[in-house]
Amino acid sequence: MKNKWVYSYHEGDGKNKQLLGGKGANLCEITQIGLNVPPGFVISTDACLSYLAQPEHQLPEGVMAQTREQMATLESATGKRFGSATDPLLVSVRSGSAMSMPGMMDTILNLGLNSQTLLGLIAHTRNERFGYDSYRRFIQLFGKVALGVPDELFDEQFEAVKKNVGAESDVGLQANDLKDISERFLAVVRHHTGKPFPEDPYEQLEIAIKAVFGSWSGKRAVDYRREFHITPEMANGTAVNVVTMVFGNMGNDCATGVGFTRNPATGENMLYGEYLTNAQGEDVVAGIRTPKPLQEMARKMPALYTQLLDLRNKLERHYCEIQDFEFTIEKGVLYCLQTRNGKMNASAMVRTSVEMAHEGLISEEEALLRVNPQHLEQMLYPRLDPAFKGTPLATGLPASPGAASGQVVFDADRAEQLGKQGIKVILVREETKPEDIHGFFAAQGILTSRGGKTSHAAVVARGMGKPCVAGAEGIHVDVQLRKAFVGNTIIKEGDVITLDGTRGSIYLGAVPKVESDFSDELVTLLGWADKAARLKVMANADTPNDAARALKYGAMGIGLCRTERMFNAAERLPIVIDMIVADTPEQRQAALDRLLPIQRADFKEVFKTMSPRPVTVRLLDPPIHEFLPSEQQLVDELQQLQHLRLSVQGMEVLVETAKLLAGSSGEPLPSSVHELGDTRLVDSVITRKEQILKKVRALREVNPMLGHRGVRLGITFPEIYTMQIRAVLEAAADCTKAGIPVSPEIMVPQVCTVEELKHVKKLVQSVHQQVEATFGVKVHYQFGSMMEVVRACMRADSLAEEAQFFSFGTNDLTQATFSFSREDAENKFLPMYNERSILQDNPFEVLDLKGVGRLMGLAVGWGRSTHPKLKVGICGEHGGHPASIQFCDSIGLDYVSCSGPRVPIARLAAAHAQILLGKEKANADKTA
Ligand code: ADP
Ligand code: MG
Ligand code: MG
Repeated sequence: MKNKWVYSYHEGDGKNKQLLGGKGANLCEITQIGLNVPPGFVISTDACLSYLAQPEHQLPEGVMAQTREQMATLESATGKRFGSATDPLLVSVRSGSAMSMPGMMDTILNLGLNSQTLLGLIAHTRNERFGYDSYRRFIQLFGKVALGVPDELFDEQFEAVKKNVGAESDVGLQANDLKDISERFLAVVRHHTGKPFPEDPYEQLEIAIKAVFGSWSGKRAVDYRREFHITPEMANGTAVNVVTMVFGNMGNDCATGVGFTRNPATGENMLYGEYLTNAQGEDVVAGIRTPKPLQEMARKMPALYTQLLDLRNKLERHYCEIQDFEFTIEKGVLYCLQTRNGKMNASAMVRTSVEMAHEGLISEEEALLRVNPQHLEQMLYPRLDPAFKGTPLATGLPASPGAASGQVVFDADRAEQLGKQGIKVILVREETKPEDIHGFFAAQGILTSRGGKTSHAAVVARGMGKPCVAGAEGIHVDVQLRKAFVGNTIIKEGDVITLDGTRGSIYLGAVPKVESDFSDELVTLLGWADKAARLKVMANADTPNDAARALKYGAMGIGLCRTERMFNAAERLPIVIDMIVADTPEQRQAALDRLLPIQRADFKEVFKTMSPRPVTVRLLDPPIHEFLPSEQQLVDELQQLQHLRLSVQGMEVLVETAKLLAGSSGEPLPSSVHELGDTRLVDSVITRKEQILKKVRALREVNPMLGHRGVRLGITFPEIYTMQIRAVLEAAADCTKAGIPVSPEIMVPQVCTVEELKHVKKLVQSVHQQVEATFGVKVHYQFGSMMEVVRACMRADSLAEEAQFFSFGTNDLTQATFSFSREDAENKFLPMYNERSILQDNPFEVLDLKGVGRLMGLAVGWGRSTHPKLKVGICGEHGGHPASIQFCDSIGLDYVSCSGPRVPIARLAAAHAQILLGKEKANADKTA
């Protein structure tokens, strides 16, 4: 059987996006459920791949023959003929791959026009303006997309004619002007390609098909796929859609527009979108004129608006998902030209998912799965501080929510350059085009002076979750001068501005921002998530403040409280230094006695805040010299002090001499003069500094991170750990006495052998006995070990006999497993490792499942072999990373712990892990 390359919209399988592309598959689907789609067909992605695979880029055998067959069907469906000089059939040639890539590949409209068919079109429609308007659009699009003629060459001519006749925009141009433009465009093509514009419609069609196929391997598309990690499994090749043209540019009773079945910025359940009268589809997206909101259509074209609502309802009921659709109205008839799942920001996604579940369109599980955990981050984006009362410099359309400040840049390359240097920039353009995409990646936010909420800038920014203000028409952007003008204000490149994409406002300077709160819908969704998940989600929180914040994010406890962070406050550090430089255990104890009440008070606050949830306190972990100044700093300071001492000695001489002189004149010297010559203060400071310096030198280590830290410190200076343990248990006893239920857990860092654990356990037990005796209450606690050393993992069975819980510290464990030092790796060789695919990801961000993960899996198994009820969790940064969370679920961990703001992400990811596991099991049962 010969290969089938081409499928009419009546026969294509609406589910097969891989073969037909998203656009093609959906057009098949909605044609088949009876929506009004212009007749068309789709040439498969297989044809594209065969085309690209051939060195000469030949269309595979049969593609054109099958295309001609389908064209004949379109001809009989429309009663028009392709290439006819009386009533010509025109088509659009459109790309579309399995993944939607907005604006990544170009569409050609009005194909089939030439000097003959143009006359036929004009004669048939009796509309000369329309004929030339369609013609000039076709020449430009075909010239640009299929023949590679730069857009600017056309734009120049267009602007020149506009200026000649004094037209404000394209609608002000008359038939003659458009004719003039068409002729100029033909000349541009002839001049640029050295050949006349192709006249034969089938030749046009073939060139266009090849161009669309070719665009799949063009730089823009390749860059986009790389940036968004679109693999061949997700989308391989683009299909080509050939669709009968319908015309929104035949007059003022015609229109074209874009709709969302619900508001993609807020999720509100209401038709949302924009339209332009007397225009073709490209115009809305390109921001040629600023379109009108669809609500206006309700007043101006009520009958059509009703049809539009009907289309919206049918689409949503069929797909049970928010649809983003294109439509064109030709002389009172509404056509649907495309539909796809609407891209939304996270808050709209959460809201629509929860509401659709409430409406019974989808299940709670589906609602959960719809929201990508990572995207929740957007909801935690900053907003402008509500207390801020400044007036905006200018306003535009609120095209993508969130707030951002940065230096103004006027082109994408510059944005990229500065972005790479870590400078925050706002990309400011008249309008954006797909070739600006790298500028979006680099920018904090995007501002355009033209275009609507469905313009390129808006769509792309929303997809990336970056704030965008579009169509700020009060701003005149001059890219050449690198300046923007707003009334009398001039914004130069490098000036800082702030965008509020939620409201559409622009401010001069950096405006203060605040974190955003949870919406009610998010609270509901996360409630469902907690029901569906098995993993508990804890937070890493070191202070009472952190704990309170973590609780707001829904933390079910604290999985890691780093006690050393409590030492860093300005009034505490001197005591810590006393503790470190102490020469005798008595001196050290004196310092620790001062620290004890401070830590105890902190723990009490944290326990109270989290009551009755578990709080895991890690005993002191870092090398203690981290609390001391550096050797260099001390040496410099001492040098200065020695100079000072000399000066003071000089003062002494001065004072003595002054005394002699005063003695002879009989006048007494003021007492302050005596103090000036007193070296005792300087001497005592010098002694103290020298003492610290001596200690710093004594503590110096070649490899501090592998040195005297963690439990090693606890064993060599037992009084430090004893103080901490006492602080934890006394705080717990205090709370218990006050009727506040608490669940403290004491965790030992850097353990590599069971003897270490036993050693600390003994300390804990003895302090515990004393505390219970002194306070007269029972104090419950758990005792456990960090798992961050390879040997600990290997000895998990024996450690588990002494521990009630394990917590994987995957930051250190990753370093230890790879034998990479994180700082050196990330600065020196990891980027190249990633680039060359020697390592797929940065293992410090994405848990290395094959190595570190495997070790964890083994350790969990061994641990539970001797202690079946052993509680196991993770507290490294990976604990907030969705893919790592899924893995933690799969190896049977009990909890993950991550930074407070990531808690919601982790809760949703934990739910996803269980739901997906359930689905997998169900599938396995089916096949078994
Ligand atoms: P993109 O993928 O960039 O959205 P499309 O293929 O959807 O490109 O087409 C670009 C614009 O042209 C859209 O607004 C679309 O509705 C319009 N369009 C495409 N085909 C036709 C057609 N046959 N008749 C009228 N307008 C069309
Ligand atoms: Mg489209
Ligand atoms: Mg560690």
